[in-house]
Amino acid sequence: MIKVELARRVKDLPPYLFAGIDRMKQEAIARGVDLIDMSIGDPDIPTPAHIVEAMKKAVENPAHHRYPSYEGMPSFRQAVAGWYGSRFNVRLDPATEVVSLIGSKEGIGHIPLAFVNPGDVVLVPSPGYPVYPVGTLFAGGRPHIMPLIEENGFLPDFKSIPEDILNAAKLMFINYPNNPTSVTAGSGFYEEAIGLANKYGIIIAHDAAYSEIYYDRKKPMSFLEVNGAKDVGIEFHSLSKTYNMTGWRIGFAVGNKDVIAGLGKIKSNLDSGVFQAVQEASIIALKTGDEILSGIRDVYQERRNILWSGLRGLGLHAIKPEATFYLWVKAPQGYGSSDFTAHLLDGAGVLSTPGSGFGEPGEGYIRFALTVPVERIKEALERIKKVL
Ligand SMILES: *Cc1c(COP(=O)(O)O)cnc(C)c1O
Repeated sequence: MIKVELARRVKDLPPYLFAGIDRMKQEAIARGVDLIDMSIGDPDIPTPAHIVEAMKKAVENPAHHRYPSYEGMPSFRQAVAGWYGSRFNVRLDPATEVVSLIGSKEGIGHIPLAFVNPGDVVLVPSPGYPVYPVGTLFAGGRPHIMPLIEENGFLPDFKSIPEDILNAAKLMFINYPNNPTSVTAGSGFYEEAIGLANKYGIIIAHDAAYSEIYYDRKKPMSFLEVNGAKDVGIEFHSLSKTYNMTGWRIGFAVGNKDVIAGLGKIKSNLDSGVFQAVQEASIIALKTGDEILSGIRDVYQERRNILWSGLRGLGLHAIKPEATFYLWVKAPQGYGSSDFTAHLLDGAGVLSTPGSGFGEPGEGYIRFALTVPVERIKEALERIKKVL
């Protein structure tokens, strides 16, 4: 037997903070608890039928059974450019400014390999999607945390980043609409980010996975709508959340052609693109009419309204989501993130996610995902009421 030893880059990963909660969840299920699981950021609504039909047809075409290209079919990249034109009024060259991804997680995880040398700094928002710091660490980079706190509207405070950090920074991740805090950003914020990027030579990678899950008909903007954005960065996008396609694994990155080409260099050496049948179905998905999408938004809107006002009624401080299917809720006095998550699980059979799992600045909050039906949300509120 050889001694199987993990590489340092794996051994040195930050501790997995959900392990305790995972164990409690398994124990609750074993006890037969009727668990209301609001911890999962994965839509419970199926993929719209016209997309599934397009997939069935595409699967039967032998041309799609062969290796795809890593950068995506020209027709898929054209569909992406067309969608950006109609949704954001942003013009993109499908040949050079669009690349397909095997889910946006793939591109987010890989982009540091293209631009970050060992020791370089990557600016990452926290609380945030764990792939930003992990992708950074795998490339040998140093994540520098940009705390997202309520006093700043959950936007990073660029003025508080030390000069030496900015000089060492190669890449900055930002994410609006934001997971987990559910806020959006406006053009003033993006202009400030672009100013910083130009001054210090930092590539901006904006994660827009939730741009289509919004409330009160207020459409979030694209980073690329802002003047100068394409000079400094790219935007990651995904079909996962918009079309309930998390299992299909398709996303894309758009924007600065040199950044897209750098990411493409990594991809051409590591992967062989997205199954062409999935790309064909995605072309149809990107042309989905607004009735279907606003139907999906209405489902989340009703859930958001019930959970947000219900939690407020119980005296909890819950941020009213502008977008995403998450609710960011402050734990009551005397509780930390983990305690409060455990209390709701043990006492009420309601599972949320401790905010501290998204990074230290998330401590003191919990996150609910609106991925369960209204009846279950009402039931969860009834049960939470009894244990507060
Ligand atoms: C869900 C999610 C993604 C996208 O995931 P893919 O399915 O890999 O496209 C990206 N960023 C954030 C913040 C997410 O929550």
